[in-house]
Amino acid sequence: MAASFSARTHAGAARLHAYSAGRPAAAIAALLIGGVALGAGATQGISAARTAHLEARNDAQRTLLASTRREAQHEVNALAARLGELQAEANRLNALGERLTRIGQLGDGEFDFNKPVGVGGEGPVRDMAAGELRGGMDRLGAQLTDSGKQLSVLESLLFNRELDRSATPSRMPILNTYITSGYGGRADPFGGGRGFHKGIDFHASTGDPVLAVADGVVSYAGVRSGYGKVVEVDHGNGYVTRYAHNSRLVVQVGDLVRSGQRIAKAGSTGRSTGAHVHFEVWQDGRVLNPRKFLGEQGGQRERM
Ligand SMILES: [Zn+2]
Repeated sequence: MAASFSARTHAGAARLHAYSAGRPAAAIAALLIGGVALGAGATQGISAARTAHLEARNDAQRTLLASTRREAQHEVNALAARLGELQAEANRLNALGERLTRIGQLGDGEFDFNKPVGVGGEGPVRDMAAGELRGGMDRLGAQLTDSGKQLSVLESLLFNRELDRSATPSRMPILNTYITSGYGGRADPFGGGRGFHKGIDFHASTGDPVLAVADGVVSYAGVRSGYGKVVEVDHGNGYVTRYAHNSRLVVQVGDLVRSGQRIAKAGSTGRSTGAHVHFEVWQDGRVLNPRKFLGEQGGQRERM
């Protein structure tokens, strides 16, 4: 009340009065203001530090990001370089395929090793986009699958050709043996008379391994009248060999057999007087004298 009066009459005195009268309040206010000021200053100090810290962290992250991006790009570029190498390899395979096709004199048009190769081949001189790289990889993958298929067909054709070459009977159907009965007319071992012996008999003991004389595919494995347990191997080119009187068969129809591979165990099944291997060679349905295929081996130890 006094303060308001003084303020109305003497502003200066009133100010003085108010100052002295309200000192504690003013002190508190001053303290408060100082405190707020102090607080504000502290807040300002903290926020500056924080900003600096955040900026530093930002910088670090930016640096990390940049280095990660660089590394990623580095990897992409390395992959692109690898892609280039793979393309070169694909080109090499294609060239090989072409050469094999030419050497093998395989029909034109059967193989197409001239399809365009994926993406550009001189390697990355600029950064490559990941998408572009993926596309290149996909194309290359498809191309390699294609070349792979063609090469396996080529391989099987060449293998068949090789098979043809080694399909001519040229080895004995049983090891360490001798011929006990030759091809052609002979006295029938069963009750006399002339008979025509369609193969050659080799001495054997029951259980001796009977071997394919050339590469081929088993075309018969079972029992035939007179022959007992018999295996027949188709060698292509019209050649078939027959191995008869076995005690056991160890292959089945459709098996691929290699020259010298065991196909049966010798025995005396069918029309046989004792354990032996009866061996026949057929070409285009005509029986042949096997001797000409067995070369010197076949004649060396003949006892007849
Ligand atoms: Zn015989």
